This record gives sequence, structure tokens and C-alpha cells, in this order.
Amino acid sequence: MDVGAFEYLLECCSIKILRRMGEEERMEEMNDQVILEQAPLNSVDRCDRCGAQAYVRATLISGADLLFCSHHAKAYAESLKAQARHIHDESDKLNESSDS
Ligand SMILES: [Zn+2]
Repeated sequence: MDVGAFEYLLECCSIKILRRMGEEERMEEMNDQVILEQAPLNSVDRCDRCGAQAYVRATLISGADLLFCSHHAKAYAESLKAQARHIHDESDKLNESSDS
């Protein structure tokens, strides 16, 4: 498993989150984490690794979100379980489409 790449992703994501937090500091201090966790994934959501449509969103303990296609969600499953506090998995949707 490509653990180095995963850690790189975490770093990128943390920077993104820090920037976003800076912007939102001026706004009312609202916790949008609940909304993020519940929002369904759609075709606009892309895997952070390969750009394919994302079916899994992992919300990390730090509050960062990582999006993965079904393939990369499986590839990073162990790391995600260790670092994510919530995993939103819609990979079942893949079975409904005619992908075969
Ligand atoms: Zn992917």
C-alpha cells in the first residue's frame, strides 16, 4: 500500500482546511461538519488520488475531508479506519450502475 501518498494527501488536506478555517473565522462560528458528513456524494465529488468519481468520503479526526473512488477507498481502507472519525460510503451505488 502507498502509505507515503496517503500521508501526502493528509498534509495537503490539512493545509486546505487551515485556509478554509482562516476564511471562516470572520463568519459566525458555525460547525458545518454535520452538514458535510451527511451530504450525499455526487458526480462533482472526485477522488483525491485519481480524479474518478468519489463514492467514499472520510472525515478525519482533524476535520479534513478526503474523497476516494471505490478503488482507492479500498486501497487506503486500513489507514482510513485508523485516522477517520467518520466514513461515508456510497460504494454500493456502483453495483446499481452498469459498470460491467
Ligand atoms: Zn481513485
